[in-house]
Amino acid sequence: AILLENVNKWYGAMHVLRDVNLQVATGERVVVCGPSGSGKSTMIRCINRLEQHQQGRIVVDGVELTDDVRALDTIRREVGMVFQSFNLFPHLTILQNCTLAPIWVRRTPKAQAEEEAMEYLRRVKIPDQANKYPGQLSGGQQQRVAIARALCMKPKIMLFDEPTSALDPEMIKEVLDTMIGLAATGMTMICVTHEMGFARTVADRVVFMDRGEVVESGPPEELFNNPRTDRLRGFLSQIL
Ligand code: ATP
Ligand code: MG
Repeated sequence: AILLENVNKWYGAMHVLRDVNLQVATGERVVVCGPSGSGKSTMIRCINRLEQHQQGRIVVDGVELTDDVRALDTIRREVGMVFQSFNLFPHLTILQNCTLAPIWVRRTPKAQAEEEAMEYLRRVKIPDQANKYPGQLSGGQQQRVAIARALCMKPKIMLFDEPTSALDPEMIKEVLDTMIGLAATGMTMICVTHEMGFARTVADRVVFMDRGEVVESGPPEELFNNPRTDRLRGFLSQIL
């Protein structure tokens, strides 16, 4: 479970998260949407402490995010993240990309790490690419590797930051299908995406952010069909 309580963050003088409150239960799937610059990435990066908030509380799986290094270690192990750019290591094979953290961070024996990585590569439907390098794969395939790599750490929570927005249209579906499959396993997920079809299929709740604030949140049908604010109405008219 994830709890954000009156979270505020500034970059210099710029107030980028304004009293953000969000609660995500174990197994819940939340989609975050909103205009560019509204603070979506900043918010989810605060959840695994790639960014630090200055006011309020963030509690992930019972551990409050503070400067305590042990707390940070715990969180980083439990929270997987997939970015818009795939961030794979270009000089490592797909299999090596997937086993690096389990071997070095989790101290998993190499043979076991490889066996588990192959299992996740099968789940994202690219086991046959295991010995290739990222540059030899399509964007959609690379993003599925990035998802498999995150899963190899056996996270309890997965964060996605616009995982399909850098992909060609024909590759978006294969990545969304992978995410739908993951959702079906009961994984706790927060996904920043403007794929409203995905949101309708998978999300228990959609959160709409604008200018650093959570403006509305609710089940997808309710939010998309009956926006209560002009800000959400305006946003939806641009993306739908
Ligand atoms: P997008 O849809 O374009 O990805 P976003 O909703 O993810 O936008 P953020 O990336 O969270 O928005 O940015 C929120 C605000 O914080 C923006 O005004 C952005 O310019 C600013 N910002 C983000 N990162 C930094 C940084 N490292 N230093 C200074 N300002 C930043
Ligand atoms: Mg962003």
